[in-house]
Amino acid sequence: FLARGREVCRRNGLLILSVLSVIVGCLLGFFLRTQRLSPQEISYFQFPGELLMRMLKMLILPLVVSSLMSGLASLDAKTSSRLGILTVAYYLWTTFLAVIVGIIMVSIIHPGGAAQKEITEQSGKPVMSSADALLDLIRNMFPANLVEATFKQYRTKSTPVIKSPKVTPEEASPRRILIYGVQEENGSHVQNFALDLTPAPEVVYKSEPGTSEGMNVLGIVIFSATMGIMLGRMGDSGAPLVSFCQCLNESVMKIVALAVWYFPFGIVFLIAGKILEMDDPKAVRKKLGFYAITVVCGLVVHGLFILPLLYFLITRKNPIVFIRGVLQALLIALATSSSSATLPITFKCLLENNHIDRRIARFVLPVGATINMDGTALYEAVAAIFIAQVNNYELDFGQIITISITATAASIGAAGIPQAGLVTMVIVLTSVGLPTDDINLIIAVDWALDRFRTMINVLGDALAAGIMAHICRKDFAQDTGTTEFLPCET
Ligand code: ASP
Repeated sequence: FLARGREVCRRNGLLILSVLSVIVGCLLGFFLRTQRLSPQEISYFQFPGELLMRMLKMLILPLVVSSLMSGLASLDAKTSSRLGILTVAYYLWTTFLAVIVGIIMVSIIHPGGAAQKEITEQSGKPVMSSADALLDLIRNMFPANLVEATFKQYRTKSTPVIKSPKVTPEEASPRRILIYGVQEENGSHVQNFALDLTPAPEVVYKSEPGTSEGMNVLGIVIFSATMGIMLGRMGDSGAPLVSFCQCLNESVMKIVALAVWYFPFGIVFLIAGKILEMDDPKAVRKKLGFYAITVVCGLVVHGLFILPLLYFLITRKNPIVFIRGVLQALLIALATSSSSATLPITFKCLLENNHIDRRIARFVLPVGATINMDGTALYEAVAAIFIAQVNNYELDFGQIITISITATAASIGAAGIPQAGLVTMVIVLTSVGLPTDDINLIIAVDWALDRFRTMINVLGDALAAGIMAHICRKDFAQDTGTTEFLPCET
């Protein structure tokens, strides 16, 4: 028995360490909260966790570019288009299923109850319009500058503009509320003016181009996938670049194999550091608690029942064995809240534990980490309906359908980084006329829900790779494609 136990520990050492690190991180975080550390002490404490995030982020760019380019170039045109169409169709279908699960859960649990004014009064943060958000999604698919896309994505800024009648200071009556200001006109002319704020002014948001932090993974995925397909079509003349990408991919995976031993240590500090930062859990309102429970229940139903059932029905293989193989990636997703940062570990788990064909993983995973976010879509639908419930809005069937379509689109547009779903949520809310400022209502619990939905996002990508490997097994058995350019894999 002891010998068997030792063997299990030897084979699953890293996984056991990762599970332990999540537990130790939670315990340490809650213990240190009682010690009232200063913000500076907290930031020093978070340093090992910050290093883990930096290591993972460092690997995203070479991994996405090299895996898509080498993966698609090594397939013939027929195989790559079949794999591409099947993968994207499967991703859209499961995302839509996740949204339906979310809508059913929020309709059953009804976390928003009747109108609650104190919550809605917290609004006020300007957010951009739905049209701007959708246009930004399309803009990000075609980055104007590839180098810039590796550290920035395009995002429209919205600046609040107060629209109120202008009056001269002399016209102001003592009972009117006025704001005085200066305005530049015709270049240099500066004029005094006043705004009549009685009655309440209309506030509109003016869109301005702007950029935000975070890599534009969507743009990089589109570019690399197109390059990969073209390299495959070029035959021998594309071979040097394909070989280069394959070597790059292999070497990144070797770095991952080395870095994973640091991860359990980093996870402890990442989780404990977040617990130290969070607001007092008792301050979270009851309705918000029910909302969080609704999202978690939906994620559990989708991630532990629906997706594994689909996997079983299609492949006739045991989903539990498959999920056990990617457990380490799920823990990293829990710790980092980022499906892009988890990508290197998802690759490692699928290749080493689940023995998925690397050509399939190289395509399915980077695309999935960018566009397939079942957890995010589910949460966006639940959050939008929760906000409607809190405001006492009755949503009709048409509006529910609109929410399901826009939640799917918003999850595709969300980057695989922490709390990206919160940003694209505006698309869903504005599509049915819900107040976008009410996003502030759910911010208090979003950091925690983000971790769980990221786990489901990563699980969805991994199971998709397993399903695609099963569906396309014959194509891949026949297709040798350009695999003769594989010096690093032989
Ligand atoms: N953090 C999520 C991810 O990386 C995205 C989100 O829902 O905010 O997959």
